[in-house]
Amino acid sequence: MRKIVLSNGKTVEVECLSCALTSGELEPDGGVLAETPFFHAHQDAAYPIEGLVILASKRHIKSFDELTEEERMDYISLLSSIRSAQRRALGIEYVYYFYNEDTTHHFHTWMVPRYEWMNDFGRSVESLRPVLLHARNHLNNEENNKKVIAALTALRQELSPSMEEEKR
Ligand SMILES: [Zn+2]
Repeated sequence: MRKIVLSNGKTVEVECLSCALTSGELEPDGGVLAETPFFHAHQDAAYPIEGLVILASKRHIKSFDELTEEERMDYISLLSSIRSAQRRALGIEYVYYFYNEDTTHHFHTWMVPRYEWMNDFGRSVESLRPVLLHARNHLNNEENNKKVIAALTALRQELSPSMEEEKR
């Protein structure tokens, strides 16, 4: 078991944070954004950026080449749906995607929207970590957290119709 300190200050002991979140053992702040048989999407509250989404597999795997054919289809479909919702509901023009296989958790893709203020931290991949740290250290306030939850709600509403269509 590993001890993980959550953004709300609580400490949890889990084998794998992604397993705990995707299985429902641990409820993410703001709740589940979207869920399919193979994947689970939520906001990472530790990095309060409007429209930031973590897309995690339900299976405890680390690498892209461990995905089954079905999971690959499900992944690209859900990723694209979320991307589309970010554009329609929040007007997000660009998204940065980040995914590392040597994670301490398991397979999860970061979808980080690109906003004007992020230009102060540079462009492209070099700006990603400074942007996330800035959000964690300076944007974790009540006013911004409200905006983050509102964005998550807007995304969820935008996604629901398409999720319903997929079930048909
Ligand atoms: Zn896991």
